Amino acid sequence: MSDEAVAPRPSPVSDPGPSELYLRQMELGPMQNFVYLVGDREAGECVVVDPAWEIDTIVRTAEADGLRITSALVTHTHQDHVGGNLADWGMPGRIPGVEELLGQVRAKVYVHRAEREFLRGFGSDLVQVESGMDLPVGRFTITFIHTPGHTPGSQCFLVDGRLVSGDTLFIQACGRTDLPGGDPAEMHRSLTQRLARLPDHTILLPGHNYGGPQSILGDEKRENPFLQMGLGDFLRAMGGGRIVLP
Ligand SMILES: [Zn+2]
Repeated sequence: MSDEAVAPRPSPVSDPGPSELYLRQMELGPMQNFVYLVGDREAGECVVVDPAWEIDTIVRTAEADGLRITSALVTHTHQDHVGGNLADWGMPGRIPGVEELLGQVRAKVYVHRAEREFLRGFGSDLVQVESGMDLPVGRFTITFIHTPGHTPGSQCFLVDGRLVSGDTLFIQACGRTDLPGGDPAEMHRSLTQRLARLPDHTILLPGHNYGGPQSILGDEKRENPFLQMGLGDFLRAMGGGRIVLP
C-alpha cells in the first residue's frame, strides 16, 4: 500500500465490558516514557508499544492480566523507545529494550521501513511496515500510520478509536524536529494532513507523559498550538534547532 495513503478511519468504539479493548499505559524510566500494552482479553494476546526501560515490568504486567505478548510495535527507534546504547547521546550505559524483550518472549517486531536499519540483529523477527498496513490482535485491528517529522520512520498506531502517537503528537505539543533525521516540514504535514484528519473523538495516547496520560483529538485540534499553525509559522516555531520540549 502506498505511503501516501490518507490516514485510515478507526474502527468503531467497542462496547464497554469484557469485550472491550485491553489497554494498559505504563510510565517507565526517567524520561517519562509511556509504554502500552494493547490487546484482546478474550483472545489472550496483546502487543507492546515501545518496549523499553523495565522489560520485566512489561512482561509481568501482561502475564498477570492473562495475556501473551505476540508483537512489539515501534513508534520510532530512539533509544528511550526501543532500548540501546546511549553512546549516540554522549552518555554511558544502556537502556533495556527490544533485545531484552525478545530474550523473554517470542514476538515479532514491527518497525517502519524507513528506520529498519536502526534496529539490527533481530533477523526474521523484524517486520518492516508501511502506512496503511493492518495488524490483527484478537478481534481488534491496529492500523499503522506513517508520521515522519520527529524521525523519518515515526509512525502512530490507530486501534479502536485510540491513537498511540509516539513522539509525533503530544498533549498541547509535538515532538522535536532538531534531532538527526528530524524534519519540521514533514512534521507539519504529518500533524495537519494525517493526524488532524482523524475523527475528533479519537483518544490520544502519547509517547511521553509531558501533559498527562491522554487527551481527545478534537481538543488538540482546537487547543494544541502546533496543530493551529500554517507551515510558515510552524517552521519558524520549530526552526533554528530550537528544542521545543523539555
Ligand atoms: Zn524520540
